[in-house]
Amino acid sequence: MNLVFLGPPGAGKGTQAKMLSTRETIAHISTGEMLRAAVAAGTALGSRVKDILDSGQLVPDAVMIDLIRDRVSQSDCKNGFILDGFPRTVPQAEALETLMQSLDGELDGVVLFELSEKAIQARLENRRGAENRADDSADVQRERMLVYQRQTAPLIEYYDEQRQLIRVDASGSVEDVAVALDRVLPG
Ligand code: AMP
Repeated sequence: MNLVFLGPPGAGKGTQAKMLSTRETIAHISTGEMLRAAVAAGTALGSRVKDILDSGQLVPDAVMIDLIRDRVSQSDCKNGFILDGFPRTVPQAEALETLMQSLDGELDGVVLFELSEKAIQARLENRRGAENRADDSADVQRERMLVYQRQTAPLIEYYDEQRQLIRVDASGSVEDVAVALDRVLPG
């Protein structure tokens, strides 16, 4: 099963991706976590993207596409994967399509985690205390929301037109959302 998880920051994609990937024994690919790990390890990629992450802007498409191409070719992805945080732009979605074709695979669905603006704010405020992420300050969170609306939200229509979009109500508890997700997943 190859899935994309799509939704605004704070929608709970990461938590659900972690749980589902463990249950299905498929890879959980969080591009945000990969980038934060690169920053923490002080790699060339890390120093290239650190300021971008701290500002809430997006890392250039070409960098992300290279990163994902390498990652999905690894052996732990053979059984399937959940892309959590990729694609975030239309060019990334187009590159993913090409990549899947070259791997002789396909996406089984793009899950959209739907949540009201108010609920997002509440979740992000919570996370600010819990995870201590450099990009979780109120200002950067606001920027990340704007970036989502401008650059990532167009993917909703993109995948809807391709009949790949699966909507999930992400407003409930972690358990509620897991149940809702289970109900709508293919197969
Ligand atoms: P996340 O943990 O998914 O919220 O990602 C944290 C940050 O990593 C984002 O605010 C971006 O700066 C960067 N990032 C993660 N995934 C992508 C992507 N697909 N394209 C561009 N930037 C990304």
